[in-house]
Amino acid sequence: MKRYCQPTAKMTTPANPAQAVMAFLPSRAFRFCAFASLLAAFTVFALLCASPGYAQSVALTFDDGFDATNGNTQAARDNASVLATLKKQGVRAMLFPAGQLADHDENLELVRHWGEAGHAIGNHTYSHEALSKSDTTRYLDDVRRAHELLHALPGWCPRLRFPYLDEGKDQTQHSQAIQWLAQHGYGVAPVTIALSDWEYAQRYEDLLQSGSDQDASAFRQRYVELIGTQAHEQDVQWQAQVHRSPAHVLLLHTNRLNAAVLPDLLQWFTRHGWSFTDPLTAFGDPIYQRGYTNAEGSSTTLPQPACR
Ligand SMILES: [Zn+2]
Repeated sequence: MKRYCQPTAKMTTPANPAQAVMAFLPSRAFRFCAFASLLAAFTVFALLCASPGYAQSVALTFDDGFDATNGNTQAARDNASVLATLKKQGVRAMLFPAGQLADHDENLELVRHWGEAGHAIGNHTYSHEALSKSDTTRYLDDVRRAHELLHALPGWCPRLRFPYLDEGKDQTQHSQAIQWLAQHGYGVAPVTIALSDWEYAQRYEDLLQSGSDQDASAFRQRYVELIGTQAHEQDVQWQAQVHRSPAHVLLLHTNRLNAAVLPDLLQWFTRHGWSFTDPLTAFGDPIYQRGYTNAEGSSTTLPQPACR
């Protein structure tokens, strides 16, 4: 069998230095084989990098909404700042406004800006109660109340983000809630990456009050690194569990700290090779599906909701 990838340069004694160089150069066939090998290695490497199993992606979701009541003009500035950052980076996010908070003209206007900017708007209940601490019927009435308030907004998407990510105190309560969601064309909106960002936001406000810009800047940097570390650790755990990198969903709350760090946070993800996914696409990942028993007694999963 003819072997193509073998050096064929003859080790003859050259008559002059130029010939000496040529004598030790590989033949045209060998150069072709070396090039082909390199190309093959590069192709395998590129395929591994592009493999959907290991390319990390994240969808950004924000909970609660800014509070512009009581003359709080900072809320409108922070809301606009988040939307400007997302627009600049071409990232589509999803907002889950707490109904009670959004039920003020000035706050509803801020929520509307998200929809008008092309982002999705979901349901986070009206009263923001934890399901496990509520009566199920009352809780679902509360979901309906938030629906009534928000469903006409641009970007509306019937997905429920359970407050406190609390999906019920037991399987019975969880199933009752999921069945109701199925009957009303709703999906859910679980997350893979979350941290107690509201605590950091409070500490950040305190730092701003104390007037130390240097401390506030260092705090923002550490906070971005913290979210990045959390994202990386969650990805490692999910890869071990499902043998691929899922479409991650990051939960952030609408606050001054997150508005301030968002440009750096997006940069962190980009610098570490992550891409951004539309939340509505990310929620299609099987890890976010929730099963329930339908009226015919069969086990099934929630259908994809109709979103604007
Ligand atoms: Zn919330």
